[in-house]
Amino acid sequence: MRILIINSGSSSIKFQLLDMADESVLASGLVERIGEIEGLLQCTTRPGTAQEHKEKFQRRIADHQDGMRLAVSLLTDTEKGVIKDLADIDAIGHRVVHGGEDVRRPTLITDELVAIIERNSPLAPLHNPANLDGIKVARELFPGIPQVAVFDTAFHQSIPARAFLYALPYEMYEQHRIRKYGFHGTSHKFVAGECARLLGKPLEQCNLITIHLGNGCSMTAIEKGLSIDTTLGMTPLEGLVMGTRSGDVDPAIHSFLARNLGMDIEAIDRMLNKDSGLKGLCGMNDMRDIHAAIAQGNEHARLALEVQTYRNRKYIGAYLAVLGRVDALVFTAGIGENDAIVREKSLTGLEQFGIVLDSQANTRRQKGPVKISSADSTVQIWIIPTNEELAIGRESLEVLNNRRLAPGA
Ligand code: AMP
Repeated sequence: MRILIINSGSSSIKFQLLDMADESVLASGLVERIGEIEGLLQCTTRPGTAQEHKEKFQRRIADHQDGMRLAVSLLTDTEKGVIKDLADIDAIGHRVVHGGEDVRRPTLITDELVAIIERNSPLAPLHNPANLDGIKVARELFPGIPQVAVFDTAFHQSIPARAFLYALPYEMYEQHRIRKYGFHGTSHKFVAGECARLLGKPLEQCNLITIHLGNGCSMTAIEKGLSIDTTLGMTPLEGLVMGTRSGDVDPAIHSFLARNLGMDIEAIDRMLNKDSGLKGLCGMNDMRDIHAAIAQGNEHARLALEVQTYRNRKYIGAYLAVLGRVDALVFTAGIGENDAIVREKSLTGLEQFGIVLDSQANTRRQKGPVKISSADSTVQIWIIPTNEELAIGRESLEVLNNRRLAPGA
């Protein structure tokens, strides 16, 4: 079964064609700067094999439909393509950011589901409309091919009310659905499943803390395989210190900025989302640049690293308290998978809680999952690369298989 994975943004479409028989990547690409004077398309077919071929070209890409058509023309190219025609694609899996409280699992796309995604757009105004663009175009281009939506928020729907409610007047939740939803769910669920396999235990018996540190960062407390708390909130701003996002701040900072600096709500929103986090603290949001600057004696860069890793440690402590028994901590995403210093600093002083890092294993980079806890650590520590496209592929396949098994569905 060949599944095309689509992650549609406001001006970009990331796509990957997977052969689910062996979970290999047939093609992977990115259409960028949709709607701008000059767009960019990059696509690699059969990556990592002797027939690997890279294609890159620039031209105006008018809209999402134009972008998708271009991507499909590369996939079906008679010389360098990987499929003969569109009929070779068996299903499409879409990443959708916000399913609100309406969607608890990956779901087959119908008109009704499209309406639900639209209804939840106010909760993710930057993401859901862009995801919907991808869905609409794909439904036009691939009529009759089953399409599945995989939601970032779905895995966190098991979080209990005591953890998802903010202590605001209750009608804010009842009438306006203001609550914690959590994000990066596909990534947390994927690495949790991989971790259970590596621990040799059913996921339903595993208590884990999964730590996704990329440009966006989040941590999830997983009890018996289910998310019971997570750091991102109603929007992807709460919690850990991220590349450009602040994470936790005193909510009264908003009114202080408005009253004393005359900032309006748009400016405050922009500052917290785009100019804060590591970038706000030291002017850089890529951890590699931050380490290079620290080596040059840059004090702000050193502080940014301190603030981020202190916040990580604080939340690990909180989730240890929430879970009681923890089988493993899992680091994933760009920083989590690659940055030994961030991992070490985030775990400093946690030895008394049974979390003991093997510093050699931590710094010895290998591809694939690697255990980095020492033999006397009661909590195992793992680096597990995330793979959101494969996760969406697997989830889509499960939806399609269940549909086949359900008579009359
Ligand atoms: P992601 O959002 O998962 O793609 O992660 C992107 C972030 O990972 C970048 O902004 C960097 O801060 C970080 N990153 C990627 N590679 C490395 C590396 N080798 N060492 C440290 N940080 C890295």
